[in-house]
Amino acid sequence: MANHKVFIFAPADETGESHRALEAAGCELTLGQAGWMTPQGDNEQEMVGLAEGADALMGTSIRSSPITRTIMESSPQLRIVAKYTIGVDDIDVDAATELGILVTHAPTESNWGGVAEGTIAIMLALLKRLRERDAQVKAGGWRDQAMQGRYLGRRGDGYEGLTIGIIGLGRIGSRISELLRPWRVRLIGYDPYVPMSHFEECGVQPVDLGTLLAESDVTTLHVVLTKETGHMIGADQLAMMKPSAVLINTSRGPVVDEHALVEAIDSGRIAAAGLDVFEEEPLPSGSKLRELGDKVLLSPHMVSSNSGTGGLRPGVEWATRSVLSALRGEVPDNVYNKEVIPAWQKRFGA
Ligand code: NAD
Repeated sequence: MANHKVFIFAPADETGESHRALEAAGCELTLGQAGWMTPQGDNEQEMVGLAEGADALMGTSIRSSPITRTIMESSPQLRIVAKYTIGVDDIDVDAATELGILVTHAPTESNWGGVAEGTIAIMLALLKRLRERDAQVKAGGWRDQAMQGRYLGRRGDGYEGLTIGIIGLGRIGSRISELLRPWRVRLIGYDPYVPMSHFEECGVQPVDLGTLLAESDVTTLHVVLTKETGHMIGADQLAMMKPSAVLINTSRGPVVDEHALVEAIDSGRIAAAGLDVFEEEPLPSGSKLRELGDKVLLSPHMVSSNSGTGGLRPGVEWATRSVLSALRGEVPDNVYNKEVIPAWQKRFGA
């Protein structure tokens, strides 16, 4: 396997191991900019030039310029676009399928498990008022009834505990249910695309979206971003929630209408929100979310980032294996647009 060109659009392999593995397999690498993982203007034209003649594109989530049809069309021999991370909302998957190109992503446990753990941390910090208590003591203060937390679990004294609503019962939503079960909370969930048996396995009661919003003390979002899930939580949905409710979004920013959320929190329509993702990232300096104090817990889209074995490494390795398989004419094991496989095999199959 020689002379294949691989364009790494948003490099994130600090060790360089994956680059060496690709070069050892005879690939010629072209590197984009690591900074392209955060938005910084439109780089499409530059990317078109760099992608020209490429057999493979790969990299981490790219938020400066999505991988557009124009970028993919700049190389008629392009076989694969491989992501290091979960989610393909930064790739025009429909165009890739039409052009006969495989799209792969890397839903590694280090990534999705990290989101689940981070989501629970956000939930507990909000419910138990950890930031407020810490700030109080550091400011020289002491106990204050205004900083009371919420007890989560069902108790023997008749207290029924909190209801946690999970929207999207995929990898992350399911792990959240697994982590929460020992807390003895009531788990309800909404996901029209998973079988009832999966709800049962997760110990989650299936409900419709309206019921979930009306009954949950905490609503946590774990859907993929699609045309259907964009703004699935807007003013109408927020109006169905309890005034004491907390909304957590660690999925994708555009799933929530941020303007409506600010209004709902500011007016006391709901109590609080924990957000790792935003409609525009990085969060603009003038965002009203910054003015809501402890009613919001904000995190810079790094809820799944952990040092050591918890980082991107497994995703980088998986994407590298996928690119090498595709260059050998073999279908990788993590294809997102599976419907393209027959056409792809006709063009590139070994
Ligand atoms: P997944 O594909 O395993 O699960 C997504 C679930 O959403 C699926 O079960 C699907 O049926 C469900 N869904 C789709 N449309 C729906 C709808 N209209 N209503 C209800 N449910 C619907 O994905 P995952 O790995 O669990 O990831 C979930 C989300 O987390 C994705 O958006 C992903 O991009 C995001 N994510 C964020 C970070 C981060 O750093 N914050 C990291 C990894 C993943």
